[in-house]
Amino acid sequence: MKINELGGEFALIKYLTTKRIEDPHIIKGIGDDCAVIRHTDENHLLITTDMMVQDDHFNLEWYTPQQIGSKLVEVNVSDIVAMGGIPQYAFFSMSLTRETSVEFMESFFQGFNQAADRHGLLLLGGDTTHGYKYVFNLTVLGIVHPSLLCLRSDAVIGDAICVTGNLGGSTAGLNLLLNKKNGYTKGHLQPQSRTSKEGQIIARYAHAMIDVSDGLGSEINHICNESNVGACIFYDTIPLSENTVQSAKALQMDAHEFALYGGEDFELVFTIKNNAIPFLKKEFNDFSVVGEILPKKMGVYIKKQEQKIPIKRGFDHFA
Ligand code: ADP
Ligand code: MG
Repeated sequence: MKINELGGEFALIKYLTTKRIEDPHIIKGIGDDCAVIRHTDENHLLITTDMMVQDDHFNLEWYTPQQIGSKLVEVNVSDIVAMGGIPQYAFFSMSLTRETSVEFMESFFQGFNQAADRHGLLLLGGDTTHGYKYVFNLTVLGIVHPSLLCLRSDAVIGDAICVTGNLGGSTAGLNLLLNKKNGYTKGHLQPQSRTSKEGQIIARYAHAMIDVSDGLGSEINHICNESNVGACIFYDTIPLSENTVQSAKALQMDAHEFALYGGEDFELVFTIKNNAIPFLKKEFNDFSVVGEILPKKMGVYIKKQEQKIPIKRGFDHFA
């Protein structure tokens, strides 16, 4: 059977990992942005890992080696930030080819180190091997104060759904590159995670939180599945940058589709009680309200004028 016949990457993970975990220290295993392990009264441990494969996640035609190194750090840090946590330590594994130059990896590390320094991340180990394409993997360890931990399963009926910054910029850039058109491509080539400072401020007020790796639609579905709730997204409130709108126009594509089904924006989606929003705004205001959490029986949909549109699945490597 092909993986897409089973239902895609998330179905495969579910299918393969059926063993129940009885260990009382494990607060969250598979199924969130990070695994969460009980450690001390002050801190839970967070662990996340993400891989980048040549010609799937990046290619050498569009990306500089610095950008690849930087993106590897940012995508991993983003998962720690989305739990309300602080990234601390990293393990880096690389599969290089026989033709790889020292200069290439030096540049890669410039980008890697700049991003790691920005987030206070220390490299403590890894693994190096040979293959036929580049494969880079990072594992990041972090901590979170138990009171700040934001799981995908923490959404409450009646919560507002919010998102930081703008969405769709990464996919807009990707489509410009694919179609060999000029425009703003940095959203795709050089994405940045929100900082742990920002994540922690949000976490003081938020219920559920997740980062945007596969598109707003997919992230809302994750929150709804894990929290056993429904949701409505208000189509017209989805935040798009001027660059993204311009790029979509030039491509004759739909900027809202980029935001909903593109991904790799690494913004934060969180749910929050309506009356907590003014308090959060006093400390952090780069976010917009894009929907609300509903009872499960109402489903998960997008409201566009008077239309109710079901949410499609987000990006899937095996779709
Ligand atoms: P994210 O996009 O936030 O990085 P993923 O979509 O990569 O998260 O993964 C979703 C969940 O599935 C995570 O909890 C992750 O640890 C788990 N997962 C992904 N691949 C595997 C695997 N090969 N084995 C076990 N768990 C996996
Ligand atoms: Mg994530």
